[in-house]
Formats: sequence, C-alpha cells, structure tokens
Amino acid sequence: MFKKILIANRGEIAVRVLRALREMNVPAVAVFSEADRASLHVRLADQAYAIGPAASRESYLSVDKIISAAKKAGCDAIHPGYGFLAENAAFARACKAANITFIGPTAEAMERLGSKTAARQLASQVGAPTVTGTLDPLASADQALAAARKAGFPAVLKAVAGGGGKGMRTVGGEGEVAAAFRDASSEALNAFGDGRLFLEKYLLRPRHIEIQVLGDEHGNMVYLGERECSVQRRHQKVIEEAPSPGMTLELRRAMGEAAVRIARAGGYTNAGTVEFLVDAERKFYFLEMNTRLQVEHPVTEMVTSLDLVKLQIRIAAGEKLPFTQKDVVLGGHAIECRLYAEDPDSGFLPSPGKIREYRAPGGPGIRVDDGVYSGFTVPNEYDPMLGKLIAWGSDRAEAIARLRRAVAETEATGIKTNLGLFAQILETDDFVRGEIYTRWLDEWLSKNSERRTGDLAAKADLSLDQKAVLIAAALGHLSQQTRASEMQNQVGATDSRWKIEGRRELVDREPRRPAK
Ligand code: ADP
Repeated sequence: MFKKILIANRGEIAVRVLRALREMNVPAVAVFSEADRASLHVRLADQAYAIGPAASRESYLSVDKIISAAKKAGCDAIHPGYGFLAENAAFARACKAANITFIGPTAEAMERLGSKTAARQLASQVGAPTVTGTLDPLASADQALAAARKAGFPAVLKAVAGGGGKGMRTVGGEGEVAAAFRDASSEALNAFGDGRLFLEKYLLRPRHIEIQVLGDEHGNMVYLGERECSVQRRHQKVIEEAPSPGMTLELRRAMGEAAVRIARAGGYTNAGTVEFLVDAERKFYFLEMNTRLQVEHPVTEMVTSLDLVKLQIRIAAGEKLPFTQKDVVLGGHAIECRLYAEDPDSGFLPSPGKIREYRAPGGPGIRVDDGVYSGFTVPNEYDPMLGKLIAWGSDRAEAIARLRRAVAETEATGIKTNLGLFAQILETDDFVRGEIYTRWLDEWLSKNSERRTGDLAAKADLSLDQKAVLIAAALGHLSQQTRASEMQNQVGATDSRWKIEGRRELVDREPRRPAK
C-alpha cells in the first residue's frame, strides 16, 4: 500500500477521498488555494500545502505546484478526485515521470477514451451502438450542415473535448447551424483549448443511463450496474439514482457488457463510467466515457456495498479486483441530490457567501458527502456544490421517502440553496413514477416558472388540500412568531445576550416542510 497520498482537489470530493484514506490508515495530504484556507478538506487532512491564489489555473490546475507539493510531503500517490486535473493526460504523465502513482487510468487510456470522437469510433468498432452522427471532427460550418442534413433535425453540435455541457448547441433547422457552430466552437476553445466539434442527432426524450466499470491491472474488469441520471438542468445532472427505474435485467446485462467491451478496447483500468442515452424503445446508444470517479458514485456504492474510492486506491497499488462479475449483487435503491449554493428564484445564479448555520440530515439510510460547515464561506471562485444528500431504501419508494425527510431536515442558512427545488421534484408524480427523461426538469421548470422554487409557499396552482396545509402552516408560523415576540418582550435588561440571541432564533427560522 502507498505510504502517503496527496488529494489534488477541494470541497466534498476531497473530503470523500480523505475519509477513505483515514479508514485505510494511509496519511492524507491536502492542497489548498488562498480561497480555501479554512475549507473542511484542509481541516481534516493530516498535512496541508498552500498551492497559490484562488484562480484554479494558478492552483488546482497547476501540474507543477501539485507535483512539487506531493514531492515535498513525500507522497507516493495522488488521487485527483473529479474535475480539475482528473482527466488530464499530461498530469497523469507528469505524475509518472515524478515516480508518483496517479490513481486512475493510464494517460494513454485517458487519451483514447477521453476524446468524444475517438471514443465513438472505439465504441462502434466493438459493436456498441452510438447516436447517429459524425465519427470525425467537423472541419467547417458547411460540413456541419451537411452532417445535420444527413442525421436529420434536431441535431446537436458537441465539443470533441467536451464536458459539463460546454461547447454544446442544439440545432432545430438548417438556418441555425452556422451560428451554433461558431458559438459552440468558441465556447469549446475557451473552456478546453480545443474548439473542434462533431455532430449527433438530438434524441427527443432519452434517459441518461450510465454504467460504472472497474478494472484492475491484471486484465479483470466488471460492471457495477447502472445509474439513472435523467433529472438534469441544461444537460447537467441534478438527481441521480441506482438502479434505474427504467431498467430490465436483459438491458442491464447488454449495457454492462457493451461498457466493458468499450473500456477494454481502450485499455482502461481503475474506475470509469460509460454513459449512454436510452430511448423509449429501450434501445441504448453510447454517449461518452468519463475516465474518472463520478460525482454520483455514492449511489452505486450504496446499492453494491462497495467502496469505490478504496477500490481505486487498491487497484492503483497493483492489487487484483477482490471479486468477479457474478459476485456483484445489487441491493435496495439509492437516490442522490446535488446540494448547491444557488438561487432557483434568480435563474440558478450561484449564491456563494457565508453559511450562517449548516445542519446535515441523518437517521436511517441517509449518507451525506459534504465539504462545508456552519460559518464556512463558500468561495465564489469554484463550483458552488456544497455536497450531496444520498438516501438508501429497501426499495425506490422507501429511498424517496427517506430523501424527502433528509431534504426537510437539512439546514443551510445565510446562502440560497436548491433544497426547495428538491422538495418539489421529489413530490411530482412523474418522478415518483420514475417517468423522467433528460429534458424533463427543464420542461417542468418552464411550466412552473411562476412557482418560486426556493419558496414553497408561492406555489400557484394548488389543490384545496394543499391550500389547507399551507394555511395551517402559515397559522402555525404566525402563532409561533407571536409566542416568540411575547418571549422577546419578556426579555429583561438582566438577560444575557446569549439568551436573547437563542430566543431570537425561534423567530428567524422559517418552516420548510414541503406541502403535500
Ligand atoms: P458533457 O460531457 O458536456 O456533459 P454529454 O455528451 O455527456 O456532454 O451529454 C450531456 C447531456 O446532454 C446528456 O446527458 C443529455 O442530456 C444531453 N445530450 C447529449 N447528447 C445528446 C443527444 N445526442 N441527444 C439528446 N441529448 C443529448
């Protein structure tokens, strides 16, 4: 096993990796930018190294600074988390050159599978279906138009180096292609330093279903079931679950085997995810491979009882996979919500700033992977994800019930969050029935734009029952306020500040139970 591991990341994923290292008794080294001096991952680490200013380019994306921190600390391995340098082949090479193990696939496998067009070619070579479209990058807007005519409209232009929905534009007709090509290309150039695009037919109501794969360096590879990630806002995942409510045993096997074929063909090792779109006829199409640990890995961990981070580390240390495909058993159901500091009432603008009070939920079946605490200031330089709330249940209904409870128990004041949105989504008939597709949430949000998603009391079209519940809640709140202000009136000159503040809290707190 490794002597000491550096975590080249921040936030909840740095904390997640730290927790695995603590359990494995391996010392953990954190790195942090100036904006992260007081971050949780720094507090929890055995050692921490400052690596520069807040701007990612000069800290978390600096290969040199991270390698030199690892050398200084005497680390023999680096876990990259997700994002930042996790899918950067040059970083994996630099680790190798410095005699430090990169916990992930080889640089070569990352290159073969990280480029979307290269991965599409590989998938079609091994007989895995891909979405109709181009296998090579497009040389011009004219070529894009010809490709779109061939594939049919609507189509989507995507960045070869794509990720996070950047450099992606849908085109509804011929007249939109030239402008979309220009916009997507310059966005991709800005984000990835690579403006190349390709084109796919845009599927109308697909599910996003992805397969977790895990391979060791001895030729063994397994798939660990699927994750359903169809609740998305603007092509970004918001809620994920395992298993998928749209899955069958045959489809799982077919998708799992296709994923393993693709990963094997790319010489892949360690943990990776093969993403697919699945249409209404349950036909699946390869989308891309993510050559790293995913944000949503906990739902797979909860239904497989495996610890993916520990397995990543053991595989990187040269160990054999301790089980085979037939040992992989899925139990129960897990659902995850990505908790963000953002304001659903103002176009989901990030809402960084100081968290006045943070209280994570608990109780049966609840897991919280977070990176914040009361009094922590969420920096505005990075992705404003606070953490993930994950619920496990013996079946999907129990997982939903537990997640609703967890959402209602969670407190994060002083900043705006998307908690209220989760409370609403988890109550919708479509979600409860599992009838979701990748544009479902965007359509739901535009249909319900009059609802202030952060404030449940503003629901417009309520049933009589719902109105009664809201009125009761309002009356309850009013009487609580009256009681609290009576109490405040009783506060005498001799009462301590502590007592007065403690009582004031009663008045400040809004009830946040979702109306049925
Ligand atoms: P990125 O790597 O930028 O996240 P992906 O290729 O993984 O991009 O796609 C992200 C999301 O965009 C998918 O989950 C899906 O919602 C949507 N999408 C991508 N390609 C298509 C397509 N051909 N048809 C319909 N939706 C698509």
